[in-house]
Amino acid sequence: MTERFLHDDPGMPAAWGPWFSHEYITYFALMGVPEIMHLKPVQVMPNPRLHDGRFPINPDHVDLYKEEYREVRRLDPSISFDYAQRNGEFSTEPPVQKSIEPWKILVIYSTEPDLLPDCGLDLHPYQKITGGSHGWRHMQFRLPGLTIGMAPESFCHHIRLAHKAFEIGNHYWGWRFLSRAAHYLADLGHPFHVKAAPPVFLLRHLLSARRMVHMLSAIHTGYEVYSEQRFRQGFAPFGDALITGAGEGRASGADVHAELDGYIRRARRRLNPIFRLLVRRFGPGLIDAYASVDPGGGTDVAAQTRACSADAARVFFREPDIRSLAYLDAVTTEILEDVGRMLGMLFAGFARAPAGRTR
Ligand SMILES: [Zn+2]
Repeated sequence: MTERFLHDDPGMPAAWGPWFSHEYITYFALMGVPEIMHLKPVQVMPNPRLHDGRFPINPDHVDLYKEEYREVRRLDPSISFDYAQRNGEFSTEPPVQKSIEPWKILVIYSTEPDLLPDCGLDLHPYQKITGGSHGWRHMQFRLPGLTIGMAPESFCHHIRLAHKAFEIGNHYWGWRFLSRAAHYLADLGHPFHVKAAPPVFLLRHLLSARRMVHMLSAIHTGYEVYSEQRFRQGFAPFGDALITGAGEGRASGADVHAELDGYIRRARRRLNPIFRLLVRRFGPGLIDAYASVDPGGGTDVAAQTRACSADAARVFFREPDIRSLAYLDAVTTEILEDVGRMLGMLFAGFARAPAGRTR
């Protein structure tokens, strides 16, 4: 069913690569929603600056316009882990003479929320628990008596921005805000974004918070490296699951907001078995791979973590523990089908709304 992977799509310039999980996820989900794939190109427009004070973004964030690109390098995808490092350089000015298909906008801007916009902000006294404001906006889980993070609100906020942009006729930014919304929606289907850890694990490590945080981050990041490598290897079940899920979500005609709680609950329920397998089969390797990450060290933790990703990938694929890998593949496929279902529902809703179609 998966005809081709994003990295083989001749319609996508090499300058936009290498490709990351969020882009693969959006790409395959869109294949299940042909009415979006067939929409005519829209003209690039400047950012309508719809932000209100309730959702501040990092002042150093700059909107890049990938429609205007210059290919300057060819990075090796198997060792590329930094979203900001691409084969191309992009314009900071909107190339208003250019136009682009809505589906491409949805794909190429889907990693934007993981760059600067949500970083370095002062959002909540407890944001340390999620490693800062970025994690706070991309996660939501419960601890006894507390709700940590605000990912559902990040999603809803960007849906509102998308609607507003379409209303004022700025369709280009309508799709770009929708791309960001899709990012948060995909995050909410990721078990590690909606549950901290199995309670048994938390209790066992209560006395050594530092070790616990290190282990949690090694397991979570390691799992993300594994899924990204699978996409880049062209692992067909992932693409198929997203296409199938998106088709179902589209056909259901359901409202994505009404389905959100159930979706988060399902992702939450999936955490314990994956977590246990990762700890048992890959834990020591992952903890070694990330051993050099030092939150008190001079450089940015995210950058330090990325530097260890190649080692983490080796833990999964060098001498694969075939049975454990097969299990991980199966549960991840199931997760991606659910993510696809929600994305399909979301995209189909926008294709139906007049704002998504008329010019
Ligand atoms: Zn995210």
